[in-house]
Amino acid sequence: MNRTIFPTNKILQRADKEQLLDQRGIAIWFTGLSGSGKTTIAIALEKELHANGLLTQMLDGDNMRAGINNNLGFSNEDRTENIRRIAEVTKLFVNSGIITICCFVSPTEEIRNTARTIIGAADFMEVFVNTPLEICEKRDVKGLYAKARKGEIEDFTGITAPYENPLNPAIEITNNFTIEESVKKIIEKINL
Ligand code: ADP
Repeated sequence: MNRTIFPTNKILQRADKEQLLDQRGIAIWFTGLSGSGKTTIAIALEKELHANGLLTQMLDGDNMRAGINNNLGFSNEDRTENIRRIAEVTKLFVNSGIITICCFVSPTEEIRNTARTIIGAADFMEVFVNTPLEICEKRDVKGLYAKARKGEIEDFTGITAPYENPLNPAIEITNNFTIEESVKKIIEKINL
């Protein structure tokens, strides 16, 4: 008699979930300066995918830092741990067949590579929202640039901390794209 409690051939696999949902799990990883438009485009993208009957989950600094990462600060060590947990959570969603939309400044190649390695390159679609710093600063959606200029925020990306442009993003969105055009470009690339 086979006494294995959970034989692997009886555990539901990713393919079973994807078949149920009739979609493929993928991480759409937005990177770009604060105020570049990551969240705005992601919200519009999620709405459009949802309207097309697709299951999505958005992850961003707000929901991750408020919950699972609420014990982490902004030291190098904590930033690394922050991204590691985000990527592990993303992987769980992707492995359930869910289109997972991640909005994080993720300013360095190292950080993005960590995420890509954990999630798996085949499931990782990098979207670079390449809006010039001057425009992001002018928008100053959250008032953070003004604070950073006054020295009230340390290591603020674009002002007192570097942003390294992605070397080979799957998609690059420039500021002459409308939100609708950006969404269309991403959906074409996902090839649903
Ligand atoms: P991030 O998530 O990258 O910090 P947000 O999406 O919060 O950026 O803010 C971007 C701001 O830029 C929003 O106020 C948005 O309305 C504005 N915006 C203007 N034009 C565009 C565009 N073409 N694409 C995205 N955002 C735009």
